[in-house]
Amino acid sequence: MRNSNSAIIGIDLGGTNLRFALLDMSGTILIRDRQPTEIDRGKDALLHRLTAGIAGIRDKAAGIGLKVRAIGAGAPGLILKDGTILSSVNLAPLEGLNLRSYLELQSGLPVTVANDANAAAYGEKSFGAGKPFSSFLLLTIGTGVGSGLILDNKVWTGADGLAAEYGHATIVPDGRSCPCGNKGCLEQYASANAIVLSALEAVQLGRGGPLASYSTGEITAETVARHAFAGDPLSLEIFNEAGRFLGIAAASIVNLLNIEAILIGGGVARSFGLLAGPMLRELSARAYNAIAARVKIISGALGDDAGCIGSAVLAMNSITRLNRLRLYKKQGE
Ligand SMILES: [Zn+2]
Repeated sequence: MRNSNSAIIGIDLGGTNLRFALLDMSGTILIRDRQPTEIDRGKDALLHRLTAGIAGIRDKAAGIGLKVRAIGAGAPGLILKDGTILSSVNLAPLEGLNLRSYLELQSGLPVTVANDANAAAYGEKSFGAGKPFSSFLLLTIGTGVGSGLILDNKVWTGADGLAAEYGHATIVPDGRSCPCGNKGCLEQYASANAIVLSALEAVQLGRGGPLASYSTGEITAETVARHAFAGDPLSLEIFNEAGRFLGIAAASIVNLLNIEAILIGGGVARSFGLLAGPMLRELSARAYNAIAARVKIISGALGDDAGCIGSAVLAMNSITRLNRLRLYKKQGE
């Protein structure tokens, strides 16, 4: 679709923030909007704000002479290919909802729905740090660990759309319990929550240093990162451990897939400098040399925009495919 007045809405429906972006057909963000998700106010309230947000962006688009052609939305959890939210720890009240049908009905536009990390991976592939690579894994490290897999330039979604839940790869048998039902998942050792938990455990064991001066609810992953950057041995050790676990997980994935890069995105990516070293060391020690030597561990380039951009590009591709199909059918008539 080459219409210069066309635009796409990308939505990132996160556990914490609900982000909207209006993109032109070259992938440039023209308008952004962000509000708290506040899922505790219930499903109806969230859906209302979602549709109101879309209407607001469409109005603004019209104001600058643009017509919205499609909507792409990313959401955390297991998202089936038809757009149904099968399960979502962060957005539990939306479980069972076909978000795609709902938004299509509300907006009258074609809608694409994907897992948020899959969408973010596609965003990085299209306009970010993933551009030079045909195959890579994006790990989004925030409250949890999400992942999106690009194989041969396409998002790998698996048989049902549920692929690339690499945050739930087991790295410690019988380790910390995970909300997914498993024990010892990567997410329990490398996420922001995991870093906080490790800090609390160390303080409870009587380890000294600056972390011991905080009360339980005060320690965040940023606190630990700040002290690690300042040279606190305990904080450094906690990030080293998280990086080591990421490296253990990464070694399996590169041996399996021979990908070119692992991108780190999400909030904890701001601590990339603390994680990348131990991650690469562990990866190199465990994976085949020939496979490990070519893998680049780099930071994502799109930051918090990756999800919105990727969702919008997936929607853009989907309407381009639809238009080609219509043209093909027309020619065959
Ligand atoms: Zn898990």
